[in-house]
Amino acid sequence: MSTRATLSRRDLLRGRPHPEPGRARPPGVSKQSLSACTACGMCVDACPEHILHITKGLVALDPEAGECTFCGECAAACPEGVIAADGAMAHVMQISDDCLVKAGIACMTCRDVCPETAISMRPRIGGPFLPELDATSCTGCAACSAACPADAIHAVERVPENV
Ligand code: SF4
Ligand code: SF4
Ligand code: SF4
Repeated sequence: MSTRATLSRRDLLRGRPHPEPGRARPPGVSKQSLSACTACGMCVDACPEHILHITKGLVALDPEAGECTFCGECAAACPEGVIAADGAMAHVMQISDDCLVKAGIACMTCRDVCPETAISMRPRIGGPFLPELDATSCTGCAACSAACPADAIHAVERVPENV
């Protein structure tokens, strides 16, 4: 977990420390191909969205840092063949109970930013509309997790046994 010098707006909204994030990978990186990563950082420098970093000696994608556009620059930059061109994310997003709506606060930020319309708002009696994420439509781009004011959206592995 990265150490934060100051409390973020998300931390203040949540009223408790930031949780340990899962390790998300760039698109087209499998668990097997990741083992060839030398942590050279060339993909990190190539990413125009600045969402890649090296952690614990391997490349990782920060789902809170921004949206992956699947431009393929990271794959083109990697000299080790770790990142497959036109590859998909091994993760999908999941909305946790930290969602502001669960606390009765209306928010549609994730629905509004999703480029795949994978998030819909379910009407309910006695509270604001609840966001629902369709994992089959989610590309793992992280636009929603980067935009969520409550840090309530996290990456989980889509098919753990095959990635
Ligand atoms: S595909 Fe493009 S935007 Fe996505 S992580 Fe790679 S370089 Fe960054
Ligand atoms: S360019 Fe390839 S080898 Fe270098 S850090 Fe990125 S994934 Fe690892
Ligand atoms: S990660 Fe999935 S749900 Fe979130 S904005 Fe991207 S496609 Fe939509």
